[in-house]
Amino acid sequence: MTTDIKIAEAPPGHTGEGFFATSLDKVIGLARSNSIWPLPFATSCCGIEFMATMGSNYDLARFGSERMSFSPRQADLLLVAGTIAKKMGPVLKQVYLQMAEPRWVLSIGACASSGGIFDTYSVLQGIDRIIPVDVYVPGCPPRPEQIIDGVMKIQELVKNEPLRRRNSPEYKALLESYGIQ
Ligand code: SF4
Repeated sequence: MTTDIKIAEAPPGHTGEGFFATSLDKVIGLARSNSIWPLPFATSCCGIEFMATMGSNYDLARFGSERMSFSPRQADLLLVAGTIAKKMGPVLKQVYLQMAEPRWVLSIGACASSGGIFDTYSVLQGIDRIIPVDVYVPGCPPRPEQIIDGVMKIQELVKNEPLRRRNSPEYKALLESYGIQ
């Protein structure tokens, strides 16, 4: 019987008759990267593209990310899609703060990444002014393929992140630069 189902690749390691050995970092990275739970923070048109990404045609479930979380405490990936007004900035930051480590951020579209066409007093000129961002997706709006590409780049980061990173002085300095303890 033929099947289109692809099984996730095994991490690098040593194999022999009846055994496979690898490191704990790589096993955890493999599990995490194929079960990322996103929290969609969608405010405008880019959010519609994200809805298409979740639909059956593009099917983000293929990447283990079909389980949307509308509670920050059960989410790994903050997906910011749409224009973020300065008034909304503190709310976005609070949502980020309520997520448990390890957490990642995907900025979808020109508005979330840079303010986009809204170069005005009321619009935040990029969410990286208030929270750290891991991957940026360009476009106004980005197509679902681009959003999927962004999620796959996040998967690569997740898969290869050392377990010690979140306790490193560099990571703490990054958070402190955003006023986060
Ligand atoms: S980047 Fe373009 S499509 Fe996305 S929210 Fe801004 S104006 Fe809308």
